[in-house]
Amino acid sequence: MPETTTLLTPASIAGAAYIVAALLFIMSLAGLSRHETSRAGVGYGIAGMAIALVATVWVTFAGAWGTPAVTTGLILLVVAVIVGAAIGLWRARVVAMTGMPELIALLHSFVGLAAVLVGWNGALDETGMTGALLDIHHAEVFIGVFIGAVTFTGSIVAFLKLSARMKSAPLMLPGKNALNLGALVAFVVLTVWYVVTPELWLLVVVTLLALALGWHLVASIGGGDMPVVISMLNSYSGWAAAAAGFLLNNDLLIVTGALVGSSGAYLSYIMCKAMNRSFISVIAGGFGIAAPSSSGEVEGETHEVDAEAVAALLSDASTVIITPGYGMAVAQAQYPVAELTSRLRERGVEVRFGIHPVAGRLPGHMNVLLAEAKVPYDIVEEMDEINDDLAATDVVLVIGANDTVNPAAAEDPGSPIAGMPVLRVWEAKNVVVFKRSMSAGYAGVANPLFYRDNAQMLFGDAKQRVEDILRAL
Ligand code: NDP
Repeated sequence: MPETTTLLTPASIAGAAYIVAALLFIMSLAGLSRHETSRAGVGYGIAGMAIALVATVWVTFAGAWGTPAVTTGLILLVVAVIVGAAIGLWRARVVAMTGMPELIALLHSFVGLAAVLVGWNGALDETGMTGALLDIHHAEVFIGVFIGAVTFTGSIVAFLKLSARMKSAPLMLPGKNALNLGALVAFVVLTVWYVVTPELWLLVVVTLLALALGWHLVASIGGGDMPVVISMLNSYSGWAAAAAGFLLNNDLLIVTGALVGSSGAYLSYIMCKAMNRSFISVIAGGFGIAAPSSSGEVEGETHEVDAEAVAALLSDASTVIITPGYGMAVAQAQYPVAELTSRLRERGVEVRFGIHPVAGRLPGHMNVLLAEAKVPYDIVEEMDEINDDLAATDVVLVIGANDTVNPAAAEDPGSPIAGMPVLRVWEAKNVVVFKRSMSAGYAGVANPLFYRDNAQMLFGDAKQRVEDILRAL
């Protein structure tokens, strides 16, 4: 009698679950690309991750339930998951919207560290591998450790810069481009060497080299280019996960890593285009970017107003554009801003929002805040859609934005943010800037907008000032 084989092995069932999870991740990315479908996108992502987790745990232990090794493994896994989930839940619940970027940078560093540990584990445990397979394995170990270590220290520097524990100004080491290029060449040489003679000291050297390179790459990027660095590290963390997937022989990790890696790379590219920066020079740690030549200092007189005067200005306006920035997130002013918007619209004033691609501290930061406060999507426009309308606008309210509305970017070629497209708010008839002091924005560049004749400063916390305006209206 022919032997009957079953297709339903633990590995094949897990493989099927992985395909479902991968599809859910793709649907999640598609959903997240639009406001209206983003909630569903998050739901698909959660479902995909739940399926992936259950399938991975199950396939790891299937067929050996009850043995002491599996029981110990399971206990360790459950404890690790409970501790990790508890820390994750606690951080996600307490983190303020303004702290999200640094939290994300820190999470990217964990992915990098995990890839380094998986790589090291792969180097120490090579049972059952011989010949060409072993050579490929050595290359995978080396590449995984390299990408992981660059991601790890790069993300830590990003975390330190975003949380203002480290200066946001670029580190300008002499010959920094040669250092970066030299590190890449050394990596290629070391990889070949390790494949030919896999000695552990080579792995130590590449780990240290990559840790230093990650640190240097991100430290060399100035404040204004940090958004690209964040999405770039997101991309690196994806490639690090994919490398770990090859080492662990886990198809889903490879697919997921590639999805994160390629979508992060594409987002970095879009952000570079939006900021008029060279993609290559930013991912190469500021390669070819010259040091700024102008100090950017501005002198002149500012015009201060109070909330009543702004309320009067708004009462007479027929078109208003609001350009929010990081300060709106700090002040949590989105709710009174949404209230102000609906009050003005009830009075027949045309109100729209102009969103700069890097406003705030996260891609899409402002869109999230405005959606949270239930501002209708159809009046929230991108910078390119609204920039030409600013000149014909009666009043522009700059709420906690600074770098993204800085005329120096357009007018001072020596400025550190020269060439970065900005919202041309200074072309409007009246501009009201909401901020607490005369201090500079994230890029540390003085803003000549504050001294323009048509600009007025409304000092104080943005939330309180908008509430004052609402009362005066
Ligand atoms: P900026 O960081 O340039 O400026 C924010 C302004 O908000 C400050 O000038 C500050 O002035 C003011 N502010 C802070 N708190 C309050 C408050 N409670 N009430 C009122 N005002 C307040 O913001 P932008 O959004 O214009 O620009 C974003 C910057 O961040 C860009 O340089 C961008 O490159 C960078 N970045 C963006 C990322 C992204 O992905 N979007 C990621 C990393 C960096 P004051 O202290 O006087 O109140």
